[in-house]
Amino acid sequence: MTQTMQAALVEAFGQALVIREVPVPQAGPGQILVKTEACGVCHTDLHAANGDWPLRPALPFIPGHEGIGIVTAVGAGVTSVREGDRVGVPWLYSACGHCEYCLSAREPVCAEAQFGGYTKNGGFAEYIVADPNYVAHIPAGLGAREAAPLICAGITVYKGIKETQARPGEWIVISGIGGLGHLAIQYAKAMGLQVCAVDIDKGKLAHAKLLGAAVIINALDSDAIEAVKMATGGGAHGVLITAPSLAAFRQGVAMTRKWGTCVLVGLPPGEFPTPLFDVVANCITIRGSFVGSRRDMAEALAFAVDGKVKADIELQPLSAINEVFTRLEHGQVPSRVVIDFAPAGK
Ligand code: NAD
Ligand code: ZN
Ligand code: ZN
Repeated sequence: MTQTMQAALVEAFGQALVIREVPVPQAGPGQILVKTEACGVCHTDLHAANGDWPLRPALPFIPGHEGIGIVTAVGAGVTSVREGDRVGVPWLYSACGHCEYCLSAREPVCAEAQFGGYTKNGGFAEYIVADPNYVAHIPAGLGAREAAPLICAGITVYKGIKETQARPGEWIVISGIGGLGHLAIQYAKAMGLQVCAVDIDKGKLAHAKLLGAAVIINALDSDAIEAVKMATGGGAHGVLITAPSLAAFRQGVAMTRKWGTCVLVGLPPGEFPTPLFDVVANCITIRGSFVGSRRDMAEALAFAVDGKVKADIELQPLSAINEVFTRLEHGQVPSRVVIDFAPAGK
């Protein structure tokens, strides 16, 4: 008899997810089967379910790319992962391993890359099939629920902050203090930077202060750009835009110091106007950043093991996924919701 599992599927773009019993997938040669313990809900899952981006995933699919679980089966030929290991199945599900990008630890831009919860079924399900060469190895001392947000939100902001090239003592603006941004403040502090947090929500800004932001600015204030320039002595050396809002991108470029770097990680659909004269005359770098390499993943997790970064999580069952999506869409999730597949006592 085929075993079944609960999963949340996108069956049509822009519609509620459908929770159904589907067959438990099998680990083929070179693959592993992971029994999901927890999976974070990223704003990217919302973009995926809405079909927001140019390359849409094939329907139906199971979203979720912050899935953490225990390996319960290994396919033929797998040697790098064993049954019983705790792993994470991230956005970078697999890559070719031999192109110029793979060979230089820039595998997220590999032309053959597959994406968890997008081109491959993800973690909003009781089991996930994964590629053992690309799973995150969750260090001992880190629980599944607290690790979940780190394997997308954590690695993305850690890498994004490095890409700003801001140095210890310098200023960084973190724009958007949600799932990504609340971790970004902590990574930036641990990396010796002074943080200016920007959001449109008073609660998120108050939280930013508690997490160690030296300055908080409401992006809706008409003088938000001037306020950042005043606080940082002429603009931030690095700006990291995580907000899923085009308005934040234009504003973030204007908050960048001369010779500074504005790193874009938020992915709202669309385009934003760039003031060419200011960017050229102030020698500003605008740079995209897309998750990170497997090495970045190990480094990002190590910060949490050392106690320097801790995800602020709200646990919910899989059955609540549509309510969670609605709240996320309206900015009503405090930091990160994690779907808990092993509620206490089970
Ligand atoms: P989230 O919904 O948890 O947080 C977004 C935050 O942005 C909220 O606090 C919201 O109040 C704030 N915000 C909204 N409009 C704003 C504005 N105009 N100015 C400042 N702040 C504003 O979302 P998340 O899970 O943190 O994801 C954020 C974005 O990052 C999404 O677009 C997601 O797809 C993208 N993302 C990109 C990568 C990557 O590799 N580049 C990885 C993960 C997520
Ligand atoms: Zn994500
Ligand atoms: Zn490649």
